[in-house]
Amino acid sequence: MSEQVASVRHQLLQARKQVLKELGHLHECMQVEIDLEPDEGDEEIVELDRNAVITAILNRRLQAIDAALHLIDEGRYGVCARCGQPILQERLLAQPDATLCVQCQREIERLERYRQPVRQVEW
Ligand SMILES: [Zn+2]
Repeated sequence: MSEQVASVRHQLLQARKQVLKELGHLHECMQVEIDLEPDEGDEEIVELDRNAVITAILNRRLQAIDAALHLIDEGRYGVCARCGQPILQERLLAQPDATLCVQCQREIERLERYRQPVRQVEW
């Protein structure tokens, strides 16, 4: 494992710890709020929604971190998961958990943008 990859791995592990801590904290907050008086309902529901959104974002981040750590452990870190080309150094520095090269990332974003929701019903 090169020094750079080792340092990325360390960064990812730190980030993972942080995400888990935040998730744990959010979880505690959500537990507490559920027990509150129903009178204060509306605001608490907004707060719960916000926490649910943050939880979803953190869980996604956790998945990305785990995927990157997995690639590092398999010795495939820094290689695009889609086309197998090396991912640019600058990109990895900016986003250590990137698993796609810039071209593939763009391609996927483009596909997602143009993907039409299928609403055809066949009778
Ligand atoms: Zn690629």
